[in-house]
Amino acid sequence: MTDHYDVVVIGSGAGGGTLARTLAGSGKRILLLERGNFLPRELCNWQSPQGPAAGRYTSRDTWYDAAGNSFEPRVHYFVGGATKLYGAALGRLRPADFGEVVHMDGLSPAWPLSYDEFEPWYVKAEWLYQVRGLHGEDPTEGSWSEEYPWPPVAHEPLVQQIADDLDRAGYYPFHVPRGIMLDERNPPASLCIRCVTCDGHPCLVHAKADADLIAVRPLLSRLNVTMLVNAEVTKLKTDPRGRRVTRVIVRRDGVREEYRGDIVVLAAGAVNSAKILLRSASDRHPAGLANGSGQVGRNFMRHGAADVVALGEKPNETVFAQTLGINAFYLAGDPRRPSHSAGYGRRWPLGSIQTLPRSARLAREAVAFRLMTEDLPRPANRVTIDRRNHPHLAYAATNRGEAALLLHEFETMLSRSSLPLTRDETVTVPDETGAGIADQAGTCRFGTDRATSVLDVHCKAHELDNLYVADASFLPSVGAVGPALTTMANAIRVGEHLVRRLG
Ligand SMILES: Cc1cc2nc3c(=O)[nH]c(=O)nc-3n(C[C@H](O)[C@H](O)[C@H](O)COP(=O)(O)OP(=O)(O)OC[C@H]3O[C@@H](n4cnc5c(N)ncnc54)[C@H](O)[C@@H]3O)c2cc1C
Repeated sequence: MTDHYDVVVIGSGAGGGTLARTLAGSGKRILLLERGNFLPRELCNWQSPQGPAAGRYTSRDTWYDAAGNSFEPRVHYFVGGATKLYGAALGRLRPADFGEVVHMDGLSPAWPLSYDEFEPWYVKAEWLYQVRGLHGEDPTEGSWSEEYPWPPVAHEPLVQQIADDLDRAGYYPFHVPRGIMLDERNPPASLCIRCVTCDGHPCLVHAKADADLIAVRPLLSRLNVTMLVNAEVTKLKTDPRGRRVTRVIVRRDGVREEYRGDIVVLAAGAVNSAKILLRSASDRHPAGLANGSGQVGRNFMRHGAADVVALGEKPNETVFAQTLGINAFYLAGDPRRPSHSAGYGRRWPLGSIQTLPRSARLAREAVAFRLMTEDLPRPANRVTIDRRNHPHLAYAATNRGEAALLLHEFETMLSRSSLPLTRDETVTVPDETGAGIADQAGTCRFGTDRATSVLDVHCKAHELDNLYVADASFLPSVGAVGPALTTMANAIRVGEHLVRRLG
């Protein structure tokens, strides 16, 4: 096996897997390095994470919080990364998210690209990940240049009843875009069998459009793609001038190896990508590779999320519940504008609401919702490493006031609906220890200013000629939408740039 490739991609999740898939057709020699292995297909895939399968799909790692206390992060080091466990809710950010947004706790910064500039890659990601959705239901969404490739996943009867009711009350409910291989018009052709949930579980029948199945596996038979699993990248080394990454240091099955690439793409997830850059400090890059700005590891974000339970009068028989979304509180707005009905028109942007599957631990009448607020990039919310190269995550949540207001609006919405639904006091408050890092993002943000960003607009490190970062680290802000589709779309964008660059 050669040790020299045109492109070395580190990490096979939403960013790295999608980027490798984008590059593969170019015929360039690609090496995909993945720390984990393929996730086993077994009955446990569908068992509750609270049951006998507890922790089975959480990879072993130890991180530390700001006070130096160790914790086990809920990370998933598999081919496909966190998408093996994700809920496959594949929504776009709203156009406003690409601009500067004023929040209760400060500013969410503008991107170096507008929504309209980014939109074509959303379409490509939606086709690649087979997203089921419907444009035009939610007034906060941006323009679209193509319809979704498949119709949305239909609401089950109770969820449909809630949607109709909220529609009458002016809350503009919409179908959540989902990356699942469900064909309701032709059930025999459908891979998805509408089981309990996708969120938090691997899919036993391989019906979830994750980065493993959609992006990586189709590459394995290609002669120009080499994939190594159990291959943890520990360090990047540069030429004496510090301008090019010349060697990728790997620990594979416990053995040290080195690989070279004309281009190196880091996509190990927001915390691990920052960790690798910080570990790669050298004389030329004393604060960490590509870290002349001191921004590597900073601006860590995750979403503020609260799972809230409402109680109905009848048992909730819904199996596949994650189909209904409400963005009526997503944007701040002018209450005097007549088009702003119901929730529209408040001082702060509050976030999004989605239905969730009913957990077996809840009452049979329970209907579960997730309330998600935007987390702001704060320099002090950051990843650092200690002398033993262990990552430390300092994090304090932002916009808690907005989360409280969203909960209040949610209660008002329930009370205005004609359905007998009342909020239960059972609220799952987000975990503040740093262990809840499902939506980790922002540690190597892109931008035009070298002093405040790590990457340029093509996601190339400002200070290096051949190093790119293409996972959720690049995000300058996260909105109140899951980051997966935006990370996939960006990986396609960066991949296309690399195809052009490599000629
Ligand atoms: C339970 C759960 C539910 C979620 N649901 C949703 C959802 O419904 N919608 C949504 O938008 N988002 C969701 N997310 C978040 C989404 O999965 C992530 O935002 C997305 O996967 C991030 O992509 P990434 O490329 O940054 O990281 P990942 O997809 O995690 O990929 C990183 C990859 O790098 C590998 N790696 C790490 N370190 C190294 C190393 N040193 N060397 C080599 N490889 C390395 C990892 O093993 C992994 O494969 C969910 C996440 C979880 C955990």
